[in-house]
Amino acid sequence: MSLNTRIFIGAFFGVVLGIWLRQSSVDDSLREGVLYSAGLVGSLFIGLLKMILIPLVFTSIAVGVANLRAHQQMHRVWQITVLCFACTTTLAIAVGLGAAHLFQTGQGLSLALFQEHMHGFEAAQLTSAEFLQTLVKGIFMNPFAALAQGSILAVVVFALFVGIALAIKGEAYPQLHKLFDEGFALCMQLVGWIMLLAPYGIMALLVKLVAAENSALLTTLAQFIAVVTGTTLFHGMVVLPLILWLFARVSPLAFWRGARPALITAFATSSSSATIPVTMTCLEKDLNVSPQVTGFVVPLGAQLNMDGTALYEAMAALFIANLVGLDLSLGQQLIICITVMLASIGAPGIPSAGMVTMVMVLQSVGLPAEAIAILLPIDRILDTVRTMVNVEGDMVTSLIVQRQTSPH
Ligand code: ASP
Repeated sequence: MSLNTRIFIGAFFGVVLGIWLRQSSVDDSLREGVLYSAGLVGSLFIGLLKMILIPLVFTSIAVGVANLRAHQQMHRVWQITVLCFACTTTLAIAVGLGAAHLFQTGQGLSLALFQEHMHGFEAAQLTSAEFLQTLVKGIFMNPFAALAQGSILAVVVFALFVGIALAIKGEAYPQLHKLFDEGFALCMQLVGWIMLLAPYGIMALLVKLVAAENSALLTTLAQFIAVVTGTTLFHGMVVLPLILWLFARVSPLAFWRGARPALITAFATSSSSATIPVTMTCLEKDLNVSPQVTGFVVPLGAQLNMDGTALYEAMAALFIANLVGLDLSLGQQLIICITVMLASIGAPGIPSAGMVTMVMVLQSVGLPAEAIAILLPIDRILDTVRTMVNVEGDMVTSLIVQRQTSPH
C-alpha cells in the first residue's frame, strides 16, 4: 500500500476514533488513556517535523536558488512566484469579502451576546505600524541566531542571499555548493524516514482534535463557522484548481491525488511550516516538480503566501463589524484588504498565527480588538481548513512555476 493511501486511512481512523471518544458511554479512564497516547504520538510526529524544518528550509532555498543558474530562468522563477502569490491572495480576499457580504455573517447576533465571554479578556495590542516594524526587524538577523531560534523568515532571507551568491559567483565556492547540495539530499532522506510515521502521527493529531473540541460556542457561531469553511473550501476546490488548470494544465484530480498527504498533514497540524517537508515530498515525487522549484517556492510560500488566512481574516473582520453594528464604508473595506494582505504575509506558518495578526486588521478600521475573544475558541477548528488551503496555494504556485519555466 502506498504511503499516500496509508496517510488517508490514518486520517480516516483518527476522525472516527475522535468521534467515538466524544460519546458519553466511553469510560473516562479509557478516554484519558487514548487521548494521552494520541498526545504523545502527535507530539512525536510534530517534533520530528520541526527537527528537520530549519536545516531543510536553509539548504533547500540555498540550493534551489543556486541551481537556478543552470536553467537561466532565475528571474522568471521568482517573478512568476511573486505574481502567483500576489494574485492568489488577492483573489482569496475578494472571495472572502464577497461571501461575507452575500451571507451577512453575524447579522442577528450582537456583541452583547458575547459580553461574558469577552469579560476580562485583553487582546494584545498590535497596530499596523508596530506590526510592520516587528516584521521588518525579523527579516535580517544574525543567521546563527535565526537558525538556533527557528526564526524562519530570517533563515529564508539569509538562505536567499547565500543562494544568490552561489548562483552569481558559483565557481568561487564549489565546495560550499556541494556541501549544501549534499545537506539538502540528506535532509530529504530524513524526511523520507519521518514520513513513515506520518499515518500514525496524523491519526493521533486528528483523534485529539476531534475529541477535544469544545462545543459550547460552536453552536452559537455555527453559521459563521459553516460559511467560513464553505468559502475556504470553495477557494480551495474551485478557484485554485481553476488557476492550476489555466496556467499549469494540471487536472484537479491528478493534483488531489498527488497533493493529498500534504493537504491532510496541513489539516492535522494546522501549520504550513511543519508541513513543508511533506509538501516538498509530494510535489517532487508525485507531481513531478523539480527540487529547484519546490526548494524555492515552498519554504517561501509557507511563510508569505496564505490564501486561507487572508480569506478568513477578511471574513472575520466583516463578521465582527456586523456584531458591533458597524457598516463599513468602501474605503474601510479597502483598508481591510490591505491590512489583511500584510497580515497574511506576516503571519508565520504556525497554529493560530492568524489570530495574532487579526488584531491588527480589526484595529485598522477601529473595530474592538477584544472581539478576538469570540474567535479564539473556534480557531482551532477553522485553522485546519485554512492551513490546508494555505499549503494548497503554495503547491499550485509550484506547479505553475514549473510549467511556465520548463520547456514544453
Ligand atoms: N495556521 C496557519 C498556517 O500555518 C496560519 C494561520 O493561523 O492562519 O498556515
